[in-house]
Amino acid sequence: MTLERIGARAQVSLRTFTTLKAGGAAQWLTEARNVDELALAATVAHQEGLRCHPLGGGSNLLPSDQGVPGLCVVNLARRMEFTPAGEVTVDTGVAYQDLFLAASQRGWGGLEYAVGIPGTVGGALVSNAGAYRSNISEIVKEVEVVHDGERRWEPASFLEFKYRDSILRRPNPPAITVLRIRCQLQAKPAHEIYNNARDYQRQRISKQPPMASAGSFFKNVEDKALAESLDTLPAGLKAAGVVPAGYLIEHVGLKGARYQGAMLGARHANFLLNVGKASASSLRRLAEHAQALVHDRFGVLLEPEVLYFGDWSHWEPMGRLNLDAAN
Ligand SMILES: Cc1cc2nc3c(=O)[nH]c(=O)nc-3n(C[C@H](O)[C@H](O)[C@H](O)COP(=O)(O)OP(=O)(O)OC[C@H]3O[C@@H](n4cnc5c(N)ncnc54)[C@H](O)[C@@H]3O)c2cc1C
Repeated sequence: MTLERIGARAQVSLRTFTTLKAGGAAQWLTEARNVDELALAATVAHQEGLRCHPLGGGSNLLPSDQGVPGLCVVNLARRMEFTPAGEVTVDTGVAYQDLFLAASQRGWGGLEYAVGIPGTVGGALVSNAGAYRSNISEIVKEVEVVHDGERRWEPASFLEFKYRDSILRRPNPPAITVLRIRCQLQAKPAHEIYNNARDYQRQRISKQPPMASAGSFFKNVEDKALAESLDTLPAGLKAAGVVPAGYLIEHVGLKGARYQGAMLGARHANFLLNVGKASASSLRRLAEHAQALVHDRFGVLLEPEVLYFGDWSHWEPMGRLNLDAAN
């Protein structure tokens, strides 16, 4: 089977496939309508010596302006099968929020925090997505993968989940495409599920800007000594030893800062926004400017939660920018 036989097209712009609306073209792009097509695409990529990049909602990605080598596969595999005991087998192209909805309609809870997290179950696995101290890894029992061209089921530990991290986010990650997951859900009264979900959604609406973004750009910092040294950090965060990245960016004066169509949120400084056809490079420059200022002032290096995707080999970090001159 060749790339053309699986419907792959060459040099397709990824701007419309990402929520940040920036970046260059996929070397090859195709669509998978079910898990067998996704498995076939991963196998063909392996045979052709290409990396396979399943694309979910594109809500955690910044593709390079230089493009993305390999085969991008838009994941449209969307089946869910529930058992009466609360076990669910889900295709990775299912929207994370749709999984929450389908589960809650059957009386299964524990996914309320997923309301408002865009993207698919597949993308959620890669960054162990979550909110309000819950993550997807808490419910996953098994994963069906194509690994180096071979299709099989593995235990959840295969993905090596950590806070906003898994084996799939490592530098030079192994060639793993996740097709389906099997999860165990817990029974919960409907009113409790919907009250929790409504509460989370309200909190989200009050914080989240409506402009193009990929959500929180940097991970929060787990550092007890730093948390204790910050007079204005809320007591709960001090006790937990967690410093929100947005707090640090705000305290170096970058709330609302702009650079060539890129902007740091005026309400939530850890949201990097595309407010004027910014290139991927401009977005990354502004992110790295924030990183440099935070490092100089607080001594911590913010770690991106958003994935730099594709060919960034040309990239030369510049650190600080002259924002006034550049605006
Ligand atoms: C407004 C907004 C709010 C957000 N809020 C949150 C939040 O509260 N918590 C949170 O954790 N995140 C949040 N995010 C980030 C993002 O939505 C999540 O990380 C989401 O789970 C990404 O899913 P996706 O389908 O969009 O992944 P994509 O961006 O499409 O892909 C991300 C990476 O995963 C890989 N991938 C995707 N599917 C598979 C698969 N099946 N097998 C192997 N690799 C795969 C891709 O190749 C890529 O490398 C937010 C984003 C936005 C825009």
